[in-house]
Order: sequence, then structure tokens, then C-alpha cells
Amino acid sequence: MPSAATLSTWLQNSGLWARAVRLRWGDLMHLRETGPVVLLFKDGGAGLMTEVDLEHNLILVKNPGSALGDGGIAVDELRLEQVWSGETLLLRSKRGRPETEAPFTLGWLASLVLRERRLLQDIGLASLTLSFLTIFPPLLVMTVVDRVLTHHSYSTLVLLGTLLAAASIFETLLGHARRLIVLIVGTRLDAKLNLHVFNRLLRLPLDYFERHPAGETMHKVAQVYKVREFLTGKLLTTFLDLMTLVVLLPFLFFLNPILAGMVLACTALIMLVILAFLRPLRRSFADVIFAETEKASALGETIFGIKTIKSLALEPQRNALWDERVADVGSSRLAFGKLANWPQTVITPIERFMSIGLVLVGAYMALDDNTGYAVGALFAFMMLSMRVAQPLVGLARLVEDYEGVSLAIVEAASVLNRPPETDAVSGGLRPRFAGAISFEDVSFTYGGTKLPALDRVTFGVTAGTMLGIVGRSGSGKSTLTRLLQGINRDYSGSLKIDGNDVRVINLRHLRQSFGVVLQENFLFRGSIRDNIIAGRSGLTLDDVVNAARLAGAEEFIERMPNGYETMIEEGSPNLSGGQRQRLAIARALITDPRILILDEATNALDPESEALLNANLLRIASGRTMVIVSHRLSSLIDCDQILVLDKGKAVDIAPHNLLLERCAIYRQLWSQQSRHHDSQGQHHVAPPFVQSR
Ligand code: ADP
Repeated sequence: MPSAATLSTWLQNSGLWARAVRLRWGDLMHLRETGPVVLLFKDGGAGLMTEVDLEHNLILVKNPGSALGDGGIAVDELRLEQVWSGETLLLRSKRGRPETEAPFTLGWLASLVLRERRLLQDIGLASLTLSFLTIFPPLLVMTVVDRVLTHHSYSTLVLLGTLLAAASIFETLLGHARRLIVLIVGTRLDAKLNLHVFNRLLRLPLDYFERHPAGETMHKVAQVYKVREFLTGKLLTTFLDLMTLVVLLPFLFFLNPILAGMVLACTALIMLVILAFLRPLRRSFADVIFAETEKASALGETIFGIKTIKSLALEPQRNALWDERVADVGSSRLAFGKLANWPQTVITPIERFMSIGLVLVGAYMALDDNTGYAVGALFAFMMLSMRVAQPLVGLARLVEDYEGVSLAIVEAASVLNRPPETDAVSGGLRPRFAGAISFEDVSFTYGGTKLPALDRVTFGVTAGTMLGIVGRSGSGKSTLTRLLQGINRDYSGSLKIDGNDVRVINLRHLRQSFGVVLQENFLFRGSIRDNIIAGRSGLTLDDVVNAARLAGAEEFIERMPNGYETMIEEGSPNLSGGQRQRLAIARALITDPRILILDEATNALDPESEALLNANLLRIASGRTMVIVSHRLSSLIDCDQILVLDKGKAVDIAPHNLLLERCAIYRQLWSQQSRHHDSQGQHHVAPPFVQSR
């Protein structure tokens, strides 16, 4: 019986939502409408919990043995604990969580925010209360000025003072709570976004990453957080402030309708100014974003290509490029800033008039009025009018900010909303592979190129074949292995593995059944053992040792200070190229793949490691299909079949000796290489010839 964790991985790979958890009886009692709950028993058996009977403190469990239609047997806590240690598998169909599929748009993000309904309600309530509280102090001031000062009433003053103090304390606490909730909403949203974004990124097809510099992708994806910040920052606060407006505006009109009207008029003017600048600002901001993206990709490229840069001493050139990019960003930011400075400049006098000019107008009106009460109202009005103007101006500014955010959305969406690899990741067939491969009239052209990389390729090999692929560089060898792995799927013709078209096979299943070793393999930070297992479940140290032995890596691993626990640093500086390669082969072999692809895998190897690997090759190949791409023909002599590619066409397929006899291209490649190998230059296998090109 596999462990709960393994089961859950299996199920997740099949496109279900599954979690392995450890529960107690009390937890079971609270599980309702969660989807199927599978209890894993100590003896290796399992049962399906079909019902919870809270009243009798029982659950109904269905055993594999019980009849199909029956609801299961009732079990109480004591009986269950005898057989069950708490291991449980929770299941659900993935359809219930559409948010991972939804395209990235502002609306989608907003819906994520709105999902925090309860917290938002709390925030709203706090804000509304705060708004009412803001009326309080001006009201008190008004009373103080009007009543206390004119009637010299000490008792009223004390009462007012107490009220004011109480209100301030309440306001402080409420403000604290509101900021806290906004923070919580923001944090939760960030966590969700992080998961979503990473998930989307991993599902993008390989071509995307080949075509776009990593720095650019990282920069664009980071824009998501800008949008999030806008949503829970400016947008939310402006919304909340608008709530204040709803409360305060009528009060302002009550205090002094003329002045209130003037506040509104000024605000409208400010809005007009901002709206007038919107279009030019948008254009200028697009320039900024473009320059920033270019700068980010220059940085990314430099870091990822640092080995080449250092070894070719290209630092000055990179510096010059960086200078240029920084200057571009600087000048576009400056242009944007200069433009954005104008509305600010025009708005300032209007704002000043709202805060000071209105007081003068009010004072003038109070002079005219001889009831005496108008002075208090004027004070109150002064205290409140800025509170009203702020959110209104904020609303106009929001439109301005939205420009920036909408560009950020476009940027992030240009990465995240690409079609993910294929729907076949969760659907499609999951056949058991034997390893027969057949190509029939397969043609493939890379996007953006004219000549086909593969041109009507037809051949077939049975399961267990050791297939070599040779051809000049650019003849389509790698492309062929990419089609096999389902990396490029828009080919024409038919490509079958064991008679199933590759396109109908579940992509993850396909790749899990394959082992692939490339010329350059990435090792992750961690121990050697972790790198060989690479997070795949159900593998033990024995498997690791076996795989390492098969790959010819055992001997050097055991000489390492900590053996299989030796840590590999980032970029694996403590391993030689040959050692790295052998680890990669062990990593590919550990799952005992039915089909193993070595794509120029021995290229980077020193002759000794290569000899070691070649010696193991036959052993590695036993029981599986091997596809070996290599330009060193000597390592392919043992292959059952060798496919010769030329300019995307399959020229011939046969064993080495036969090809030497009948295939001109193969003979040519062979003679070129044997000339290299015959360093003594005693005898050439083929007559010398003039190399075309
Ligand atoms: P080989 O492995 O035999 O050297 P490839 O299969 O890598 O050849 O390439 C075959 C042809 O396809 C070449 O002409 C190459 O320029 C082109 N090609 C390879 N990869 C890409 C790609 N990602 N985009 C566009 N063209 C490509």
C-alpha cells in the first residue's frame, strides 16, 4: 500500500485535487461537503467515509469489500482508532478551483479582493464609523466657539472635553484596526497571487522561455504586485475615503451651502485638469515601461551569461549597454516626470484657494452675518473642507494611477495569459509505454522560420531499440527529440509511441515516462542524493545507488567527503563537467524510464568519462528504448539502428556497417571523424575529400 503522500501525488498528477493529511476523530466530525474522504488504515487497507452522524457520534465507512450500493458500516471513535492512525486523503475534482485557470485581468484580481468579503465588510464598517467620528470634533469646536465662549459655560466645556477625548481614543483604535485589516487582506492576496503566478509560469511552454530573456519575464511578472498594491492600497483607501465623503458632504452643505458649493466647484476644476493631462501622460508612461523592460532584460542576460562575458572579457561592452539602458530609463522617466509636474503645478493654486481662500470668503460672509453663530460654523467648515477635497482629488488622481496600473496589467498579462503548455497536462491518455517509436511523414517548422526543421521524416523502431541519430549540425536532431517529448506539438504527419499519437498522450505522463539528458544539465542546490531523486516520491537510497552505478557515477560519489549527502552548491562548482553529466544521467535513470533520450549528452565529457559511459551504455540500454543524439559517431557504433538526418530529411536508417556501405552522407561524416581520431595519420578509412562549405 503506497503512503498517503504518494497517493496524493499520483492523484494530483491525474488532474485531481488531493491532499494527504493527518486527522483526528474530532476533525472528521467537522468534515462536510469536502468531497470524498479516504481513511488509510494501519493494516494497509483503506475505507471511504460516506457520512458523518454527529448526533450519535458515528461515521459511516465503506470498505472495499462492502457491496456497491450499501452506505457503509457505522463506526465509533474507539473502533476506528484501533485500525486508523489518522492518515487521510482528501479529494476533490479540480473544476471547483477555476481561479488557477482564469486569465490575468484587473477584473480577476478585483474578484480575488472581493472574495475577502468579510474582512472588507469590517473595513467598510470601521471606515464609516471613522467618518462619523470626523464630524465630531468640528461640531464640538463649533459649540465651543458659539456657546462656551459667548455664554462662559465651564460645565459645558468639561463635558465637551471629555467627549472629545473619548472620541479620539475610539478613533485611534478604529484607525489601527482598519490599517491592520487592510494589511491582512493585502498579505493574503499576495500569497494567492504568488501561487497563481508561479503555477502559470511553470505551465508555459518551453518555446516561450526560449524566445524571451529571463530578465524580461521576471520584470513583467513582478508587475503583478504593482497591480495588487494599487488594488489594496490606493484604490481601497480612495474608496473608503469616498465613504467619508458621503457622510461629510451633506454636513458641509448644512454648515454653509455657498462655501460647500465652492469646494465642489474647485474639485471639479482639479479633476478637469488631471483628465486633460491623462492622454499625454499615458503615452509618456508607456515609454518608461518599455525602457524599464529593456533594462531588466539587459541585467538578466548579463547575469545568466556571466561565464561567457567574463571569459571573453566583454565587461566593457556590457557596461556600455547597461549605460545606454540606464540612460534610456533616466530620460524617459525625466520626460514623464516633467509632464506629470504640470498638472501638479496648475492644481496647487486651486488647492490653496480651497484651504485659505475659502476662509476669507467665509470670514467675509461672517462679518455680514450678525447672529454670532456663523463664526463657529466657519471654524467647523475649515476643519472639514480639506477632508472632503482630499478624496475628491484622490479620485481624480486614481484615474492617473490607473494608467500606470493598466500598463502593468498588460505587461504581466503578456506573460501570464499566454496559452499554457497544453490542456493535456491534466487530460489525455496514460498508456503504459513499451517504447516503440514511429514517425510517419512528420514535418515541423519553427515559428518565424521558413525552412522546415524536419521534412517528411518517416521511420520506425521497435521497443528496446538503441537508436542513434546523426547528422550535421542544424540537421534537425534535437528537433526530433523535442517532438518526441511533446515540447513542440504543432507538427504535421503522425508521431506515435506504441501506436498512440503523442498528441493524445497526457503530457506529464509522457515526460515522466521519459528520461532525458541534455548537453547542459542543471543541478539544483541540495545533496547529491536529492539531486538524483529530484523530489520524485517513493524513491529510496537503494534506487539512488543503483541509478548512480548504472550511470557510472558511483565511484566518484563514494570518493566525495560525504558520499551521497555531499551538498551541491548553486552552479555546482564542486563538480567537474563529466561528474555533473553522470549525475544527470543517474537522475534520468532512477525512474527506470521506458525511453531514454541522450541529446549530445556526452559532448561535454572528457574522454575518460565518455569511455566510462560508453562502456555502460549497453547496460543502461537493456530493457528500454534509447535515443542517442551524438555527433561523435564512434559512440554510436553499438546502436541497433542509426538514423541519418540531413537538412531535416531522414536519409537512411540502418546499423553502422550497413550505413558505411550504402549511405554516402554517413560515410562522409565517418571519414571526417576517423581522420581526427587517427592522430598518427597512418591510414584513412575513406579517401580525402573537399568539404563543401
Ligand atoms: P541539430 O540538433 O541537428 O543541430 P536542430 O534540431 O537543433 O538541429 O535544428 C534544426 C533547425 O531548426 C536548424 O536550422 C535550427 O536553426 C532550427 N531551430 C532549432 N531550434 C529552433 C528554435 N527554437 N526556433 C527556430 N528555429 C530553430
